[in-house]
Amino acid sequence: MSWFKRDKGAIQSPVPPEERRVRTEGMWDKCPGCRKIIWRKDLEANWQVCTKCDYHFKLGSAKRLELLLDGAQWTEHDPGLVSSDPLHFTDTRPYKQRLREARQKLGINDAVVTAEGRLNGRPIICCAMEFGFIGGSMGAVVGEKVTRAIELAIGKKFPLIVVSCSGGARMMEGTISLMQLAKVSGALARLDDARLPYISVLTDPTTGGVTASYAMLGDLNIAEPGALIGFAGPRVIEQTIRQKLPEGFQRAEFLLQHGFLDAVVSRTQMKTYIASALDFFLA
Ligand SMILES: [Zn+2]
Repeated sequence: MSWFKRDKGAIQSPVPPEERRVRTEGMWDKCPGCRKIIWRKDLEANWQVCTKCDYHFKLGSAKRLELLLDGAQWTEHDPGLVSSDPLHFTDTRPYKQRLREARQKLGINDAVVTAEGRLNGRPIICCAMEFGFIGGSMGAVVGEKVTRAIELAIGKKFPLIVVSCSGGARMMEGTISLMQLAKVSGALARLDDARLPYISVLTDPTTGGVTASYAMLGDLNIAEPGALIGFAGPRVIEQTIRQKLPEGFQRAEFLLQHGFLDAVVSRTQMKTYIASALDFFLA
């Protein structure tokens, strides 16, 4: 038996339930760096860098190219390359389905965009990785696109810039993804023979097979502040060497201190920095 009874019916809302939504939803973000609430528009205007503490959020491939290339203009190369799922791989979901979903969500066919454009007037070839596409993992398509970008740079005698953001090799393609390490590294050796500069930009996170190949092979290896850069994760290393790892291990600043990087450059300064580096190399 209940204590109260409703005589009249429930109050009818003028707004149907599917349209009931807080109007400010999605307008704010909490910064993991300073824990302050920031307006998403401010964040977008500042290339996804926190205006209060300089925390670098992830930046998508299109925005990255817009940041680096003059007038946000570029010609994309090999946009149509797609993975053929050679192993017919399935884990919790079929790999084919993951690919389809990533393609639909991001409007690109794999985890890297290759572009030809200008940086402060100088023609360059630039690859920008997309973390949103299966963790920016490197399968046959990423390896092939980066290799073709290198070959294009050699053919046109342009400098090369690769912006990495990756969880490593794409496990759904097994050994085929690991073979990309050798392929891309071989192409970079030919770029070196042609005496053309290659600047590698490492952003949060750059790990696994990408670190183990092209991300660490630049004439200059520069990183964004706070970026996680490494091969294996800290837990795996701790378990292997049975030692506690130092504070800030595998972060850009720590790696710079220990000689693994040439510079740590803030995103808003990145274009200027690369332009002066290229002036130096090509003078
Ligand atoms: Zn912040």
